[in-house]
Amino acid sequence: MRPTYLEVNLLQLKQNLENIRAHVAPAKVMAVLKANAYGHGVDGVAPYIAPYVDYIGVAIVEEGIHLRELGLDNPILVMGGTLPEQVPAFAQYDLTLAVSSFELLDAAEQVAQAAKKKLKIHLKIDTGMERTGVHEYEAEAFIEKSLMCRHLDIEGIFTHFANSESNDLTHAKLQLERFQEVLNIYEKLSVAHPRIRHTANSGAILQIPESYFDMVRPGVMFYGIYPECDVKKTIEVKPALTWHSRVVYSKITQPGRPVSYGSLWQSEVPTRIATIPCGYADGYFRRMTNRAQVIINGKKYPQVGRICMDQFMVNVGDDDVKVGDEVILLGDGIAAEDLADWAGTNEYEVMTNIGARVPRVYIK
Ligand SMILES: *Cc1c(COP(=O)(O)O)cnc(C)c1O
Repeated sequence: MRPTYLEVNLLQLKQNLENIRAHVAPAKVMAVLKANAYGHGVDGVAPYIAPYVDYIGVAIVEEGIHLRELGLDNPILVMGGTLPEQVPAFAQYDLTLAVSSFELLDAAEQVAQAAKKKLKIHLKIDTGMERTGVHEYEAEAFIEKSLMCRHLDIEGIFTHFANSESNDLTHAKLQLERFQEVLNIYEKLSVAHPRIRHTANSGAILQIPESYFDMVRPGVMFYGIYPECDVKKTIEVKPALTWHSRVVYSKITQPGRPVSYGSLWQSEVPTRIATIPCGYADGYFRRMTNRAQVIINGKKYPQVGRICMDQFMVNVGDDDVKVGDEVILLGDGIAAEDLADWAGTNEYEVMTNIGARVPRVYIK
């Protein structure tokens, strides 16, 4: 196997899920497995975690189909935008459609009628994210129209927060109020609201208990990462990833001989340079050049010279680092937050960019 690999601790993921569940009960828990389970590898994570979750959330219909092909029979909500011509796949693969427009509602009703089976849908309300969904001020007509669709099982209704991980929850609370107004429409019409009302992503799970309703949708915190460093950490979760590699080359470099493309770094004294077989094509971002650190034999060292597509170099000074020595790129003292700082991004982008070329090894 490739010396550069990602170790995924499935027991930790399960523990995170249990901690979240204990905190939000009796609300149900949807595990968000989009983007290759936030880089953790959906093929290993999904079958393991499936028995412990009430619902699975993905972003695109292809991800839902992939889960069905893996043999999962959990309910699966495709949360992102969908084109009307993709709706037949929802009937075929028994996926739950997020209906975010009047057009999609029509398409869903037509597909369900033609397929002669009830299609499960969740109504998507836009309360202030301005991404997908029917605005709360148009929701009454939307709900009335949905109630006339006899081939649909309107199982859920939901919205998504733009600022739930912030210290300032003013906007999130405003979104929550707008969502509540939408739910009040059902009371006004004297009909029952859909049985699964949901709003909470990780930030809201941590900071806004009144957002739980019937189900919560943890993504990043299921993977043990907090959505913002200064978010209130009301639930304990821990990361499950360790990114391993091994030294593939080790040599002394002399002063006046700069390292790597562009000659961006050189040493003033003879120094040992170790080469690591991992690069930006694996998601080790090029923009971390001369900023990142790695752990070799338990000690931290600076990355030097431009990070290449498939390899990068580390300055180990006078230490005796040899070919084959173990390297940690993430985990064991290097947090996803560190990589995010070095790359000028957030932990979500770090995790979801760990390349397909990096094998995932699952620990149970
Ligand atoms: C990605 C996503 C989530 C999970 O968000 P986190 O911040 O990772 O918890 C929840 N709901 C929707 C609609 C999403 O797109």
